[in-house]
Amino acid sequence: MTTEGITSSSAESTPGDYDVIIIGAGPAGLAAGIYAKRAGLECVVLEKGVPGGQVLTSPSIENYPGFPEVPGMKLMELMAEHAKRYVDIREGEEVLRVREGERFEISATSGRYTCRAIILSTGSTHRKLGVRGEEGMIGKGVSYCATCDGFFYKGKEVVVVGGGNTALTDALYLHSIGCDVSIVHRREAFRADRHLQDSIAKKGVPVLWDTVVEEIVEGDQVTAVKLRNLRTGVVSQKAVDGVFVAVGEIPSNQLAAELDLELDPGGFVIVDKSFRTNVPFVYAAGDVAGGIRQIVAAVHGGAAAALSCFEDLMNPYYRR
Ligand code: NAP
Repeated sequence: MTTEGITSSSAESTPGDYDVIIIGAGPAGLAAGIYAKRAGLECVVLEKGVPGGQVLTSPSIENYPGFPEVPGMKLMELMAEHAKRYVDIREGEEVLRVREGERFEISATSGRYTCRAIILSTGSTHRKLGVRGEEGMIGKGVSYCATCDGFFYKGKEVVVVGGGNTALTDALYLHSIGCDVSIVHRREAFRADRHLQDSIAKKGVPVLWDTVVEEIVEGDQVTAVKLRNLRTGVVSQKAVDGVFVAVGEIPSNQLAAELDLELDPGGFVIVDKSFRTNVPFVYAAGDVAGGIRQIVAAVHGGAAAALSCFEDLMNPYYRR
């Protein structure tokens, strides 16, 4: 049963039919859930893993207002608890296929859902270096998550590869837990925030500038990396126990592609300032939509997408 634009939450509606389905429970999806439900929309958040997204892997967040310093895992635990006061978050529910029709049809791990609108907040995944030895040594010394794996390298020699906020945050974390850490960066300058650069200098973390990892030496465990200095061309071998790769993100845009959403050259979903995509009743927010990729921005995107969705369902574009 529907009122003007909004599905009734009466017992007549089947459990799989919603006004809006939010795919992904990172900061954008959780904020979208809170705003959609508070606006009176029947909605559910489908999450293939656990709520939190990539923030879960950040050792320390220092730029989310209200939290001067908080582990990513803690911040997301609080955000998910808050969202669960309003909205059902289905963990372990992976969306396998999505199809546009009179209603959107979503096939997920545990069955079929339908909805009138979709908010995509599927995030992004870690970019790989793509060098010899990387793939084979994952879990044997190659890691993409300092918070998850750093503990095993206490007192050991490791390198962090990259020059962005993630690389510098990871290097500071590894240094703080007692790893002997150096940074390998392909240029002569970091792109990370000045504040992080200052901390790296203050802690005396060595940086190998203009240098790339050419190979991760394979064996039972990582024992060394082969490095090339891009200025001099000199190739050297550095003995290390661990390689933490922090070279950026790739948008998780498979569902976006199925929905024929317009993507930018980097594969991020193109949205307008209200987080609408080119397909009516489909919205995107958070890392999958690119932009500055900050938690605060993801939260804004999720909230704005939910409000745009509410507006469109109440006053469908085809009646305007
Ligand atoms: P990023 O900002 O895209 O930086 C990626 C880094 O990896 C760059 O320094 C890049 O070098 C380097 N790189 C890329 N491909 C490489 C390759 N094949 N080999 C060697 N180096 C390579 O990625 P991120 O640091 O993961 O950050 C992603 C987003 O999350 C950003 O918007 C960032 O601000 C945000 N973030 C924020 C915080 C925070 O505010 N606390 C923490 C983490 C992440 P070049 O510089 O030469 O391009």
